[in-house]
Amino acid sequence: MSIASTIQEFQQELSGTGCRLVAVSKTHPVELIQEAYDAGQRLFGENRVQELTAKQPALPADIEWHLIGHLQTNKVKYVAPFVHTIQSIDSLKLLLEIERQAARAGRVIQGLLQFHIAEEETKFGLSLAEAEALLQEAQPQLQHVRLAGVMGIATNTADEPQLRQEFRTLRGYFDHLKARYFAADAGFREISMGMSGDYRLAIEEGSTLIRVGSAIFGHRAYPA
Ligand SMILES: *Cc1c(COP(=O)(O)O)cnc(C)c1O
Repeated sequence: MSIASTIQEFQQELSGTGCRLVAVSKTHPVELIQEAYDAGQRLFGENRVQELTAKQPALPADIEWHLIGHLQTNKVKYVAPFVHTIQSIDSLKLLLEIERQAARAGRVIQGLLQFHIAEEETKFGLSLAEAEALLQEAQPQLQHVRLAGVMGIATNTADEPQLRQEFRTLRGYFDHLKARYFAADAGFREISMGMSGDYRLAIEEGSTLIRVGSAIFGHRAYPA
């Protein structure tokens, strides 16, 4: 199936759900991203700074770029001039560096707090206690980062009850933080969860942003 028709199918499947698609284009060339763009897709996700900064100037300026991979503080400055959302905020140090670089660029960058929900130890992300400590410290200082919700990567498994459990955990973190820190902030509304293999379950469990790569662009030549 062509990229354009896949994008159209996602648009139909998502209409009325309150969930939006982030097309994860990592490892794929700008020509394929342009194809998805021409079919109406506007939100794209990349996980590496170097790859994102190389692709961004070659593509339409109204793309909403989401950085979804682990971000080192010394690389924030390269994406701050254009990135729309950083989904992978997993430390106070990183959050404050995004604040600093967004201020320098005269911008507001949207941020999601990344949580560790998978059983694999290798995945990045905060615990709820760490997120609360981070918010108590940082929230009063934020003027150029708009915290908009949470993100998580579920375990790489076909075990449906386990996936649902992990998605529910992330949703529970969102509900808790919303009630405690963002009750009056309508902009805190995103739950980024669900990938090619599990996005339907994630939508059922309340996802507002699914991050889908291989189901749109095909398999990657190397894992990224
Ligand atoms: C690569 C990636 C995705 C997309 O994975 P697919 O299985 O190809 O849909 C989603 N989220 C993150 C954080 C990724 O790195």
